[in-house]
Amino acid sequence: MNTICENVKKLFGELPETNPFGEPVTVVAAVKTQSTEAINEAISAGIRVIGDNHVQEFRDKYDAIVGNPQRHFIGHLQTNKIKYLLGKCDLYQSVDRLALAEELSKKSQAKGLTSKILMQINAGNEETKGGFSFDEAESAYGIISKLPSLKISGLMAMLPFTDDVELLRALAKKTRALYDKLNERDGNFRYLSMGMSGDWKLCVECGSNMIRVGTTLFGPRHYD
Ligand SMILES: *Cc1c(COP(=O)(O)O)cnc(C)c1O
Repeated sequence: MNTICENVKKLFGELPETNPFGEPVTVVAAVKTQSTEAINEAISAGIRVIGDNHVQEFRDKYDAIVGNPQRHFIGHLQTNKIKYLLGKCDLYQSVDRLALAEELSKKSQAKGLTSKILMQINAGNEETKGGFSFDEAESAYGIISKLPSLKISGLMAMLPFTDDVELLRALAKKTRALYDKLNERDGNFRYLSMGMSGDWKLCVECGSNMIRVGTTLFGPRHYD
């Protein structure tokens, strides 16, 4: 077995069958900078969902990826690049501002599509990260849920990079509480995407049902 295959099997071995809410946990392979060979190895080892950060990479690799995985977008999306993803992206996880939701709605409607999205939550209120703050999230949900041709499937959380486990746990629980509160209004939420290689265990314990892992599967990234 090669390394990526071993890493995938190891992760599935460590992943609990469900989170404490009884929900199965979906693994999204965060594939930025990875070769199509590496991605295809992960898929052949059992990965069913891949997430890209860059539109260019999403497009370049699209046809070379085998096994028909679900394709998610998890990076910052400029409105003028939506057209390249329309009809090809199964879940837009990183809807981080109203202008993006509005444009995605408009372009989806024009194409006769319904686009599935998650609202991105900037749980640590960090200036360097996009997404709705806890305070903004409810009114943003009110607006986005009325837009045509979009379906909100839940939330995607950006947590701070920190060793402060108690802070992370508090923010992850707060995000789960927000997810439950909004879903009382919605009823159709499926995904709370929260947790990366360094913190996915903690996040699943706090109610995440979708994790996005890159380093755990592929090893350290090499940026050119
Ligand atoms: C890169 C990335 C990940 C995965 O990061 P790792 O620490 O390598 O697991 C998850 N989510 C987003 C949005 C990313 O950009």
